[in-house]
Amino acid sequence: MALTAQAQKAYDGFREAYGDTENVRVFFAPGRVNLIGEHTDYNGGHVFPCAISFGIYAAVRKRTDRKLRFLSANYPQVGVAEGSLDELVPSSDAKWTNYPKGVIWAFERAGEILHRPEVGSLKLDTGFDISIYGDIPSGAGLSSSAAMEVLIGSILRELYGFSMLSNEDLAFIGQYSENEFNGMKCGIMDQFASAMGKEGNAIFLDTNTMVFEYAPLDMKGMKLMITNTKKEHQLVDSEYNLRRQQCAEAMAQLQRVCPDKKALGEFTIEEFEAVKSVITDPVVLRRAKHAVYENQRTIEAVAALKADDLVRFGQLMNESHVSLRDDYETSCTEADILAEEAWKLPGVLGSRITGGGFGGCTVSIVREETVPEFIEKIGAIYLEKVGHEAAFYELEISGGPKELQL
Ligand code: ADP
Ligand code: MG
Repeated sequence: MALTAQAQKAYDGFREAYGDTENVRVFFAPGRVNLIGEHTDYNGGHVFPCAISFGIYAAVRKRTDRKLRFLSANYPQVGVAEGSLDELVPSSDAKWTNYPKGVIWAFERAGEILHRPEVGSLKLDTGFDISIYGDIPSGAGLSSSAAMEVLIGSILRELYGFSMLSNEDLAFIGQYSENEFNGMKCGIMDQFASAMGKEGNAIFLDTNTMVFEYAPLDMKGMKLMITNTKKEHQLVDSEYNLRRQQCAEAMAQLQRVCPDKKALGEFTIEEFEAVKSVITDPVVLRRAKHAVYENQRTIEAVAALKADDLVRFGQLMNESHVSLRDDYETSCTEADILAEEAWKLPGVLGSRITGGGFGGCTVSIVREETVPEFIEKIGAIYLEKVGHEAAFYELEISGGPKELQL
């Protein structure tokens, strides 16, 4: 057997919790990092994420009755949590199990979610036992929740024969479950990036049309670094949902003068500047400005990457951070310190907060030969100013969900 240490942990957890590993299958789904295009996915804009080698692993086996048993090595205090296919409702104690349960619940609504009536309601005939281990830093904006949803979606597809579902379908079902079962009104980016990941490539996705293309990330002497503030994002659900509401409010006011537009991502900067005065609340105006400008920055950044202009790509990352800090107000002191200190280093082309915000990670483009200096200098300043250490990871781009061979 040649499982990685992480997959082995999920597998060993299965044996310890459920007694044996006969007929157990092992699956993986990746987290993601977003390079640019933040808070644009629920505004019909563009995003540019990639799947990362950090992810979630599961060892799983079908049962013969309708019981569900969940175990996660990341939540040892919860132990084995039991559920039933006849009781798919969010629970207030074993909270993490609301993610897998939500996906099972959403599968029953798959036809409706995917607007494909022929898919119908995908019901499991029997329950399963599952053991999970994830190495995505927790609450770090690297989308462990989407990884979990895509992981469970791909497991259900493989174990229960739902072969009519594509990876893209799994992304939509996962997003629906997070929106409706877990109350987090996230856009499609996270689940799409996890489900559609391709090694060596970032994904340039237009969330308005769902047209996407893979963009090879050939960094030419540069490294993409992820730096973790180790400040777990807080209030993220309520603040996130509030941003969504504010963008919807801006859009409703803009539609009075631009009835043909359906999303902030459809505005060019010129179009937006010409009509923005119809937005009455100054805070709502700043939120809308971020959504419009960030979308245009993302389009320009991908064009710069294609033209081998990483300097411009980096400048746009910096502008993205400033916009998230000042206009969208989803950054935090810790991420501001990481980004702003990184900008001072000559070996850094760009640095910005990534993910939903209020904590989590920054992503930076760093000249390869200056990576040790980057880690040392940023690490020391961060420790001094914040009082705890940051963590540094070199980005490794992963493929999408997969079954691991035992
Ligand atoms: P993120 O930015 O990582 O997606 P979220 O708050 O959206 O942060 O999702 C984190 C939640 O996902 C956790 O609180 C937990 O409920 C669930 N989760 C993530 N990884 C795991 C895991 N390995 N085991 C069990 N639950 C997990
Ligand atoms: Mg999440």
